Amino acid sequence: HPRRVTRALLSVSDKSGLIEFARALSNSGIELVSTGGTAKAIAEAGLKVRDVSDLTGFPEMMDGRVKTLHPNVHGGLLAIRDNADHARSMKDHGIAPIDLLVVNLYPFEATVDKGASEDDCIENIDIGGPAMIRAAAKNHHDVAVVVEASDYQAVLDELAANKGATTLTLRKKLAQKAYARTAAYDAAISNWFADQLKIDAPDFRAFGGKLIQALRYGENPHQGASFYKTPDRRPGVATARQLQGKELSYNNINDTDAAYECIAEFDAKRTAACVIVKHANPCGVAEGVDLASAYRKALACDSTSAYGGIIAFNRTLDADAANAVAGIFTEVIIAPDATEEAIAIIGKRKNLRLLLAGGLPDPRAAGLMTKTVAGGLLVQTRDNAVVDDMTFKTVTKRAPTDAELNDLRFAFRVAKHVKSNTIIYAKDLATVGIGAGQMSRVDSARIAARKAEDAAKELGLAAPMTRGSVVASDAFFPFADGLLVAIEAGATAVVQPGGSMRDNEVIEAADAHGIAMVFTGTRHFKH
Ligand code: 5GP
Repeated sequence: HPRRVTRALLSVSDKSGLIEFARALSNSGIELVSTGGTAKAIAEAGLKVRDVSDLTGFPEMMDGRVKTLHPNVHGGLLAIRDNADHARSMKDHGIAPIDLLVVNLYPFEATVDKGASEDDCIENIDIGGPAMIRAAAKNHHDVAVVVEASDYQAVLDELAANKGATTLTLRKKLAQKAYARTAAYDAAISNWFADQLKIDAPDFRAFGGKLIQALRYGENPHQGASFYKTPDRRPGVATARQLQGKELSYNNINDTDAAYECIAEFDAKRTAACVIVKHANPCGVAEGVDLASAYRKALACDSTSAYGGIIAFNRTLDADAANAVAGIFTEVIIAPDATEEAIAIIGKRKNLRLLLAGGLPDPRAAGLMTKTVAGGLLVQTRDNAVVDDMTFKTVTKRAPTDAELNDLRFAFRVAKHVKSNTIIYAKDLATVGIGAGQMSRVDSARIAARKAEDAAKELGLAAPMTRGSVVASDAFFPFADGLLVAIEAGATAVVQPGGSMRDNEVIEAADAHGIAMVFTGTRHFKH
């Protein structure tokens, strides 16, 4: 769908690069139409330009509040070129097509930043500009819209390469940018009002968030909170159907998300798996022959912490699993789906919330994560590295056995979803000790080992299950000390990213104890 450009409308506040661009357009025979200051600048450069007043039959008025808001402008931008009805309207009303729109907006953000008066800020809310940008972007099938000077060259290149026409691909890309710009512009205006009104929290509707519900409170009862849906389409807690139980709280949502992102690491076609989460950290994770056995193995890791926890399954919840979870107080169960029988069993426990997400989110999906800091926002891509795509490189004399390797893969999958510093002991595809969120890796290793001792007492075992286990570390061991704690607890194989200055020291310690160690080259910090 190449579209020849015969007429361009230019209306820019930031006039950098304007003259060069206008000259290139004019030289290729494109008619230039423009508004007050922009037209003046173009004319002063000796180029032929038509004033938009000439097109509308109206002068600019009301301090420039009304200059381009006219059917001769908006009809020229919005008319579908190969629609007979639209073409007739253009003819009847003498509307000329505008094939290229070049607009950058009144500098609202910069005006606010320099501490201008309220009146000044309001006068810098551009009305006609966004209206034209949105019109042209809607009609991207026929019209190209440029909102940034940095795109001028791309448009010129394309016109040169396509005999004076633009391609649909470029027009679509430009339309996406155009709406991002008008959205950000309106968000800035909304935030400015919020600032005037001393409203603390940004209104995330301004960022494209859709309010799901106002929550009763936030992480603590004195904090306000609400829950928004974003354009992210991955199935999860924000899109799940809640079948029963009380309204979810802020912490429930946060914990349920942690559980579901972790369970999504376990391909449902390969294995049945269960994750139990408490305070956003897994306190038990296991694979099993079925969901019920996976749950029992996960529970055995730390049945004390599992009380009041969140349970996630990677397959359709069945009656066996539903019965298995009945023994202990649980806040939320989330699964892709549930059988009628399982729904009936859970239905007997009125307070237990059951969420069905309809599927598992893709752990490899790209996407963004945000975190606020004082006065700012940190944005990063998701940690979408998955074990199945990693090469485990043996660095010790002894290579892991097949059984160890399976457990190492399992443990490293889990490590990604535990707060750093993370140490995971695993055996027979189940966690047997989880050390989370310590400032020292050695402490995480000790805590995990001690918790395994507690679990052994609870289960009446002769020795803690860390005996003959494997261990995963979310980041490299900076010294051998953390590894030595794990060896003392009975670990026989280790997985870690590697990359420490003292890797050699750590490898030597492993070799001295006949331990097999693999490096992944991938770190899974989670703070
Ligand atoms: P100029 O320097 O050409 O006089 O003004 C250019 C600016 O006017 C651009 O930032 C453009 O977005 C804005 N603009 C164009 N048409 C209208 C309108 O009808 N109303 C308002 N408020 N701004 C407009």
